[in-house]
Amino acid sequence: MNTVTDPVCGMKVDPGKAVGSSMHEGKKYYFCSRGCEEKFDADPKKYTSADYKPKGMG
Ligand SMILES: [Zn+2]
Repeated sequence: MNTVTDPVCGMKVDPGKAVGSSMHEGKKYYFCSRGCEEKFDADPKKYTSADYKPKGMG
């Protein structure tokens, strides 16, 4: 099974089952929850930055 990493929390997400997805600079990102999608959409540059380290759920 192919999984991708939710850029907000760092969880592995199956794109077929992801709750949300978002395009940013030509790349598609998938999220485990609406909360992660909303955080990403509010500030995509933060979550795609090399300096950002996912802290996990919660
Ligand atoms: Zn998440």
